[in-house]
Amino acid sequence: MNSLKLIALNFTIPIVVGVFFFLLNIYQTYLSDYILSIVPFLFYLLATIVLVVSWHFNRTKFIFAILPLILFYASFSFLPQDKSRVVFELFSFIYPVHLLIFLLFKERGLFTLWGYLKILLFLTEVGIVAWFVEFPNQLLAEILGAKIFAFNLVPLSDISFVTGVVVLLVMLLLVLFGHLLIYYASYVVILISFYLGFYFVKYPHALEHSFIAIELIVLILLVREAYRLAYFDELTSLPGRRALIEDMAKLGRKYSLAMVDIDFFKKFNDTYGHDTGDEVLKMVATKLAEVGGGKAYRYGGEEFTILFPSRELDESYIFADILRENIATSPFIVRGKKANKKIFINISVGIVQSSSKDNDPFDAMKRADKALYKAKESGRNKVVKAK
Ligand code: GH3
Ligand code: MG
Ligand code: MG
Repeated sequence: MNSLKLIALNFTIPIVVGVFFFLLNIYQTYLSDYILSIVPFLFYLLATIVLVVSWHFNRTKFIFAILPLILFYASFSFLPQDKSRVVFELFSFIYPVHLLIFLLFKERGLFTLWGYLKILLFLTEVGIVAWFVEFPNQLLAEILGAKIFAFNLVPLSDISFVTGVVVLLVMLLLVLFGHLLIYYASYVVILISFYLGFYFVKYPHALEHSFIAIELIVLILLVREAYRLAYFDELTSLPGRRALIEDMAKLGRKYSLAMVDIDFFKKFNDTYGHDTGDEVLKMVATKLAEVGGGKAYRYGGEEFTILFPSRELDESYIFADILRENIATSPFIVRGKKANKKIFINISVGIVQSSSKDNDPFDAMKRADKALYKAKESGRNKVVKAK
């Protein structure tokens, strides 16, 4: 289960955006006519930006979150009232289900078999709505108008409300237990924003405000994901080389730096396979992420760097040695065909203090590498200080 702290963190930005646009909607009389007049334009502009960026980053989920809004908004604005009402009623319960389905789909590109299936599904949805708009159906009208609750949610139908609640519950479960927390939290807020826009549709620009909030939430998701891709290592989730180089440039005069390398890792891979090797790397990375006094990065392969800004060598040495011991004493369970096996992994560490003789932290890194080599030579599972 995801921790409450992590859940709260992932909800913060989308909720701020959602609440901001909700308040803007409620208090829109305070906005100037000029601003209100460009709101529809803003909706289309942002939609275009999100579509282009999603396309660029190969995020079909987001393309299929925004495309229906454009189609809905255009048809709702231009169709005669009786038809736009049917579009409204249908969309209010199809869109949430659509969002959930496309959220659950794996990302596999648009022009692939899965991509074509997604396009087909989307076109089918559009076709169904278009059909019922063109050929009003008595049975459908009765279903849409069916009363389930004693209270009234006009203009939302009861069935749309029930659908929304079910979708919301599924999304909340995903938030609690899913891996893509950042997506799920954002989609919960998107769903609620959507319903608020629909519920307050009598306010002049309610739909636009709600849709713009959705677009911004998606856009922020894209930016955050691009940041994660650039700065974080995919396998271990530790900050990667790019983050390390940027943080090295920010170091002051005093710091210490450690180079870490897993001992006999090639042998481990050869014995247990590359996939198990990857699992071990993840476990070691989890321990590294918790290192006291500093911040760990994946330098590459099975090598890591730890920066200890403003730390003396002796202090950093203690933190590094605690880390070494922590890793050396934590068993890793390899699942075997017959029985599970407990395995222990060691690391060797070379650690340096910044020096006025270094031109930049890369010089310090070279010295740390030499110390690491000494740690290997003198038997491994050691932290060695550079001269
Ligand atoms: P030493 O104690 O001297 O460091 O021995 P070593 O075998 O760890 O050193 P070496 O640098 O020769 O081998 C590093 C190995 O790490 C080679 C490669 O198979 C493995 N490795 C590097 N990156 C990854 C990775 O992402 N996943 C896995 N499973 N193995 C990796
Ligand atoms: Mg190595
Ligand atoms: Mg090694």
